[in-house]
Amino acid sequence: MDDPREAIAESLRGIAETLRHHRDLGVREITLSRVPFPDPEDALREQERALQGCTRCKLCQSRTNIAFGSGSGRARLMVVGEGPGEEEDRQAVPFVGRAGQLLTRMLASVGFDRERDCYIANVVKCRPERNRNPEPDEVAACNPFLMAQLDTVQPLVILALGNFAAQTLLGTKEGITKLRGKPYDYRSIVLVPTFHPAFLLRNPGQEFKRMAWDDLKLARREFDRLTSSTPREA
Ligand code: SF4
Repeated sequence: MDDPREAIAESLRGIAETLRHHRDLGVREITLSRVPFPDPEDALREQERALQGCTRCKLCQSRTNIAFGSGSGRARLMVVGEGPGEEEDRQAVPFVGRAGQLLTRMLASVGFDRERDCYIANVVKCRPERNRNPEPDEVAACNPFLMAQLDTVQPLVILALGNFAAQTLLGTKEGITKLRGKPYDYRSIVLVPTFHPAFLLRNPGQEFKRMAWDDLKLARREFDRLTSSTPREA
């Protein structure tokens, strides 16, 4: 972005979006000294608190708990998955079941500690019954909360896991096998799509593992390139 006026306009658009998301989340009071850069950990806690008891879509009927997000609000890598499974629903934390354990290992294989270096969230925060796919109206209803998380964390790189995360963020119907293998520009964030760890567990062949490994290395390269040129403010 060469023109500084365009950079300022982009920042203002981001602030306006964040304020709209906070309004949609039901936040009624804002402390002007904390706007537009509230502490991301506080902001995420507030968003999670405001979301409790959400009934904006029919997934509220099948959930036990809302699995809002986990990890560091100051992370430069955000991992976006599909929706909570049984264990996530029970613990109210995304990616803690078998797929979550694989995700932890996948991230560690390229040097990311999931708690310290990543913020992890799903497209929908409530478990669809019998782990069915989320429906378009459910994805649309939950989307403002994912956008609020993205606006708060402001990652440099997004690792999008599986069809739903990649398709929702990129606004495409293309499958993950076609989408993966290259980086995309998503709202000035580098988005790297790859297979969902649950898919890798169901398809233990070497071919998919190798492709996922390539994607993780790509995410790591993009992360290193961007963090070396974009230091985080204190
Ligand atoms: S999936 Fe999202 S929009 Fe639907 S009830 Fe849960 S938190 Fe609310």
